[in-house]
Amino acid sequence: MSRIYERVALIGLGLIASSMGHAIRRHGLAGHVAGHAKTAATREAALEIGFCQSVHASAAEAVKGADLVVLAVPVGAMGAVAAEIGPHLKPGATVTDVGSVKQAVVEAVGPHLPAHVHFVPGHPMAGTEHSGPHAGFATLFENRWTILTPLEAADPAAVARLKALWEGMGAKVAAMDPAHHDSVVAVVSHAPHLIAYTMVGVADHLAQVSNSEVIEYSAAGFRDFTRIAASDPTMWRDVFLTNREAVLDILGRFHEELFVLQRAIRMGDGPALFDYFTRTRAIRRGIIEAGQDTAAPDFGRGKVQP
Ligand code: NAP
Repeated sequence: MSRIYERVALIGLGLIASSMGHAIRRHGLAGHVAGHAKTAATREAALEIGFCQSVHASAAEAVKGADLVVLAVPVGAMGAVAAEIGPHLKPGATVTDVGSVKQAVVEAVGPHLPAHVHFVPGHPMAGTEHSGPHAGFATLFENRWTILTPLEAADPAAVARLKALWEGMGAKVAAMDPAHHDSVVAVVSHAPHLIAYTMVGVADHLAQVSNSEVIEYSAAGFRDFTRIAASDPTMWRDVFLTNREAVLDILGRFHEELFVLQRAIRMGDGPALFDYFTRTRAIRRGIIEAGQDTAAPDFGRGKVQP
């Protein structure tokens, strides 16, 4: 794979940035990967693991001379980081982000960037429940979608170059409008996470089921919820605070569906339950056919090594 950028700066060095660093280095997609994270411990870990070639004590230092800057911090921190790096960006550089919400990032970051840089927001639809610099691995994005949400005035060459980087890391790339992105992810990611958090919270409150029983017998569905509910609290707090409307819309629909099933159970309506579960089974088959998961039983996916 050929080099796409000379110098890439990763701001935030957690799961997503470290996976990008590993993939960029493995495929030779950049000449140099620079990095910055809030704490010295994370910066040192990034150097030691080797997914960054240099780390810098400030974001402003890290972006100097970079022709691609990737904001990989929690969504709520994007605006402050953009304000800090704005005056230090190289003319002609591209700034992108990996935030799970797009409209809020466009609003928080856009005003701080000078006119001489290209801002192309993005979101890799790949992740695990692990976080931090040790969590990343080079294959995280392979065969997964990355959604770019370029603004109307975006330079097509800058968008094409960023698309080439994601494809170089193995991702499939789609483009859409930020608002549409936010409603899609509310259905496929944000609301399911909230439901998982709720289900684990319910089990936690159930006095008649002791903790040891919940843990001992957790194979039956509950364990998958606990995996999702172990996701990073800061990241998910910011997701719900910034994609509020789309998530509330989906949760409203979720309540309606739940009442339909609740009523069918109360009325002993077996055919209604059977039809419902037949439709949902077909959706699962569609996901497997689209290559977004395997049909193999999932007993807790192991971590893939970098
Ligand atoms: P993570 O593993 O928790 O890492 C976050 C990183 O951001 C850490 O290195 C942290 O530094 C750094 N950071 C936080 N605030 C900062 C600040 N003000 N200045 C500089 N660095 C700061 O997070 P992640 O999972 O990689 O998520 C990063 C972004 O990707 C989020 O916007 C999230 O919405 C998005 N995303 C996540 C997933 C997922 O499944 N995890 C999937 C797709 C997109 P310290 O370690 O020093 O505190």
